[in-house]
Amino acid sequence: MKYTINEVRESLKNGEVTSVSLVKESIETFENDKNSSLPLNAFLEMYDNAISKAEACDKEIEQAKNDGTLDDLFNKKPLLGLPFAVKDNISVKGQHLTCASKILEGYVAPYNATVINRLEEAGAIPLGRCNQDEFAMGSSTEYSCYGPTRNPINREYVSGGSSGGSTAAVAANQALFGLGTETGGSVRLPASYCGVYGLKPTYGVLSRWGVVAYGSSLDQVGIIGHTPNDIAQPLAVMAGEDMYDDTSCDLPNVDELKNLTALSDDEFAKLKVAIPQQFLETKGLDADVGAVFESTRKWFESKGAKIDVVDLPILDASIASYYVIALSEAASNLSRFDGIRYGRRVDAGKGYDELYVQTRSEGFGPEVKRRIVIGNYVLSEQFSGDTYKKGMTVRARIQEEMSKLFESYDLVICPVCPTPAFKLGQKVDDPLEMYLSDLFTTFVNLARIPSISVPAGKTSEKAGSMPVGVQFAGPMFSESKILKVAQNWEIDHPMCGVPVQK
Ligand code: GLN
Repeated sequence: MKYTINEVRESLKNGEVTSVSLVKESIETFENDKNSSLPLNAFLEMYDNAISKAEACDKEIEQAKNDGTLDDLFNKKPLLGLPFAVKDNISVKGQHLTCASKILEGYVAPYNATVINRLEEAGAIPLGRCNQDEFAMGSSTEYSCYGPTRNPINREYVSGGSSGGSTAAVAANQALFGLGTETGGSVRLPASYCGVYGLKPTYGVLSRWGVVAYGSSLDQVGIIGHTPNDIAQPLAVMAGEDMYDDTSCDLPNVDELKNLTALSDDEFAKLKVAIPQQFLETKGLDADVGAVFESTRKWFESKGAKIDVVDLPILDASIASYYVIALSEAASNLSRFDGIRYGRRVDAGKGYDELYVQTRSEGFGPEVKRRIVIGNYVLSEQFSGDTYKKGMTVRARIQEEMSKLFESYDLVICPVCPTPAFKLGQKVDDPLEMYLSDLFTTFVNLARIPSISVPAGKTSEKAGSMPVGVQFAGPMFSESKILKVAQNWEIDHPMCGVPVQK
């Protein structure tokens, strides 16, 4: 199996593979995985119409070959015939959507999310829905009613979360690219743990129509791929304003994403890069993660970029601000799951109040309940919203300081997570420890800026030789810049996040 969009597109054009063969291969792997002693559990279900969609793509390709219009066809539909993985909180019409929660058992999405529509217009094929932490709340994909997604590099380790399913699917070559969602790091973190690239775009660039809300002022769809180009191409077709999502907006320089190039040596040497001192001084920063970050920093320096370690004390408050805001918004967003409107209903015939209580008690898992309780507590009259306001004040400061920083710097680089992938079960009973996985990611979501996780190295043999990511963040709408820099990295470190051989 070829790994990148460009390679597979070439193979489709010259008849080396068909779209049906790609889809069938993934379905076969999915079926075999179910019987494995350590199942990957990346896909939960393959969409029943993926093969027929692939057949239609193959027919279009055949027809265009006969007509001599193959290039025109691929210009019009740049992702034609390419299967992609979908997180279980993104709507695909007529297919199950559960957010890996019992409360949405049996729910079928009545319409497509805008991101799905746009990918389908470009010819791509939604392959199946992927595991995640319940309602995207978590950092390891262990809080799922379907059991955990394992890390394809070593199945005793977690995949990271909450978009662990789509990420593991890409890392294990079961899909060419994947859609995840980010509220506080849920694409970058699993990308870092599984050795692939993961982009969290600027807030608003990808429509959230049809995506289940967690923390609405933070939520954003993200993309996972083997190379920066495998992210740039889906981003180019999905990005831009959508009449169904008021927070959506256009992305400048989309054309640069269609044919992603690296920065020239001269351009690279002009880069000004900031490293937040706060993160380097973090207690509990794993030595291997620190070493991988150091080597990335040296790479920037060796190419002539100017690097400064900068003092950003406000970042110390980002995790607290994030959890106050995200959980308050979650408590409000999740109130819609009442047993009346969506999915599961537990009704003992004792009236509505009892129906709500029973449905929610049985439907939500412990982590989601914990967050609803904390969120409602923060918003309660007792606090008169003070804590939420404080969280928002800190957030405004983070936004301000980041935009000030970007007046003098092009990029911020830092590790994705203080610790590398850990073994299954290690943190699952310690929510605080789990929350600390997000220490370096949430400032990006709070500031609404884009950031990409780049596979940058591995832990020591003793620690399992697991992948470690470094993130490159830029000012709002700098997607093409950070993807180009990631492309420079990919050129100098090809297939650093080595795809798993089946
Ligand atoms: N791990 C973070 C949380 O649990 C981020 C989740 C996300 O980005 N969806 O809230």
